[in-house]
Amino acid sequence: MGGGPAGLTAGIYAARGRLDVILLEAKPLTGGQIATTDIVENYPGFPEPVSGAELMDRMRKQAERFGLPFATADITKITPRDDGFLLEGARTSYLARAVIVATGTEPRRLGVPGEKEFWGMGVTTCATCDGPLYRDKPVAVVGGGDSAVKEAVYLTNFASVVYLLHRRDRLRAETVIQEQALANDKIDVRWDTVVTAMLGDAESGLTGLALQNVKTEEASELAVDCVFLYVGVLANTDMVEGLVALDDAGLIITDNDMATNVPGIFAAGDCRSKTLKQVATAVGEGAAAAFSAQEYLTGGPYGAGC
Ligand code: NAP
Repeated sequence: MGGGPAGLTAGIYAARGRLDVILLEAKPLTGGQIATTDIVENYPGFPEPVSGAELMDRMRKQAERFGLPFATADITKITPRDDGFLLEGARTSYLARAVIVATGTEPRRLGVPGEKEFWGMGVTTCATCDGPLYRDKPVAVVGGGDSAVKEAVYLTNFASVVYLLHRRDRLRAETVIQEQALANDKIDVRWDTVVTAMLGDAESGLTGLALQNVKTEEASELAVDCVFLYVGVLANTDMVEGLVALDDAGLIITDNDMATNVPGIFAAGDCRSKTLKQVATAVGEGAAAAFSAQEYLTGGPYGAGC
């Protein structure tokens, strides 16, 4: 389950290993979160930067070459049965003897007034999709992690100024990404700053943000045409809640071989409880999960649970 790097890699390994496998995607052809990333420059084998969309397109073509079938099915429930697992979606159900959950994460929202109202009208979580619409306009990015800082740099290709609003006085993003942002004079970092409301009207959409400095408690307003939210992610694991062990953030706990505590259910990629969330780690986990599932199906040692 899942059409991002982990799911596609598991699919490539399973199809190449001649398992009777199908890859289920909630939405067709999305390629997961990485497909919305403008540039991937740390995935080995690509000395020149590659776009997330192209990288995922290549992985998909590789999976197709091995005959991996795809289906669109948003699985909302998994029920163990004597003969395997029943995977239920809105329209279709599948019976599988083993399941690899590679359903990733989705962007978290802020939950402040105006966010819902102006969603898609100047409030977004995708710089690659919406950034080019704001040529020579002021925009804001909220967050201080890899996504926020990287996408702030990308947005300088279009926007007149990119305000990077971070709730602390130190970025969380990795050093090399921070350095690129701090050296870019189109990026104006506002430290210790939170968004308290999104401002605008029905005709223009978002026109600005109400801000507060968390140290001085000073309130202010910032005129921007778009705000890009990169405030972390939520696990897409509802379908296994109550079935497999999850951590406090709702991420799936596995052993080193990607086996969950339920024999026959494996997990890979960003929906797994782990430290490093990268394409490079997701593909390794997808490969390991497919291998473990194969061992489980053929009576090998893996999949006995953690
Ligand atoms: P993240 O690392 O969880 O960062 C979320 C950021 O949002 C943090 O700076 C956090 O602040 C801030 N934040 C959270 N809730 C907030 C709120 N309510 N109001 C204001 N700010 C809030 O998420 P991410 O950047 O999306 O990255 C997710 C994972 O993907 C990470 O493991 C990351 O390393 C990986 N990733 C890697 C790359 C890469 O190119 N290497 C690119 C993108 C993502 P605090 O810092 O104060 O907690």
